[in-house]
Amino acid sequence: QHGERVDHLLSRLGYCSRSEVRDLLREGRVLADGLPLRKASVKVDPASLRVDDEALDHPYPLYVLYHKPLGKVCAHDDPRAIYQDFPPRWRYRRPSFSSVGRLDRETSGVLLLTDDGDWLHRWTSPRYAIPRRYRVLLQNPLRGDEVAILASGSLLLEGENSPCKAAEMTPLSPVELQLTLYEGRYHEVRRMFAALDNLVLSLHREAFGPFTLGDLAPGQWRELTEIEWRGEG
Ligand code: URA
Repeated sequence: QHGERVDHLLSRLGYCSRSEVRDLLREGRVLADGLPLRKASVKVDPASLRVDDEALDHPYPLYVLYHKPLGKVCAHDDPRAIYQDFPPRWRYRRPSFSSVGRLDRETSGVLLLTDDGDWLHRWTSPRYAIPRRYRVLLQNPLRGDEVAILASGSLLLEGENSPCKAAEMTPLSPVELQLTLYEGRYHEVRRMFAALDNLVLSLHREAFGPFTLGDLAPGQWRELTEIEWRGEG
């Protein structure tokens, strides 16, 4: 018999616990091809299922592009978590629906989310060196040597012993610039400019790999198309 046990499937998709699935079944709320399912161990085709007369909520992996707003945190257990901006059921999915890397609370911009562990790894692994493009506003005017220092791949952050990967910086004004990094370390941009005797006043991620925000407003998200998440675009 093909498919996945209905209790396993519904709990994995965040409907309720495996034991609570039995209650749903007993109440006749789960239909397969229009007929009520009764047994928790029955293997089902997700496409044939309806719960409370609705098709299943994303029985396949999620691939999401999100405009992270300022003030929200990339953590699961915080009242200001980014996950508040998504359907509540997704918080209970397994594997968990998680951001691809993190942005600081006071950083806005492009953030991907998924529950596909292989896909997440592909975008975060140092091996792939995905470009991350930031718009940065500084407190102090640029000194003039920043482009060369960042490009040299020799900048050492406080408390670390491997230098930052070479980065590309384009000044836009004495206090504004575009910066492309090929790695993601904790507070990396803020710590880079701290090491250059400056202070980041605002930080926005304009691009992560091929992904940009388009017309997504802060707090908005959309699913990636299959062409986008497969990377064939
Ligand atoms: N670098 C930072 O300092 N913060 C971010 O959120 C992303 C990159």
